[in-house]
Amino acid sequence: MQCEATKRDGIRCRANALSGAKRCSFHADPNKAASLGKKGGLSRKFLPFTHLTELDPPETAEQVRKLLGHVLVETRSNQLAAKIGNACAVIAGVLLKAVEQSDIETRLRRLEDQLSPPKGRR
Ligand SMILES: [Zn+2]
Repeated sequence: MQCEATKRDGIRCRANALSGAKRCSFHADPNKAASLGKKGGLSRKFLPFTHLTELDPPETAEQVRKLLGHVLVETRSNQLAAKIGNACAVIAGVLLKAVEQSDIETRLRRLEDQLSPPKGRR
């Protein structure tokens, strides 16, 4: 049997009524939706960011490695939301490429300087 309740938008609820009742589980207990929402919110609650290890922005591959180690441990122990841990991993991947590129540029500049020193330095 269809739930007899009418939703806030004026349309009749299309859920099935509980057996032996005229309303669905949500309309039979008006507090059910709120309590389920609260329960879901609690399961997604994380410790404040003050519990995370303080780290400077990583500039070297070694520092990125260190940061990822912390992210892994903190995500695994539920101190950091998986969503944020995942974002850190993605950003760290991009950062590693930038660090790598920057190192190559520095080494190339050094080689170019050795091959043809700037005028006035001979
Ligand atoms: Zn209903």
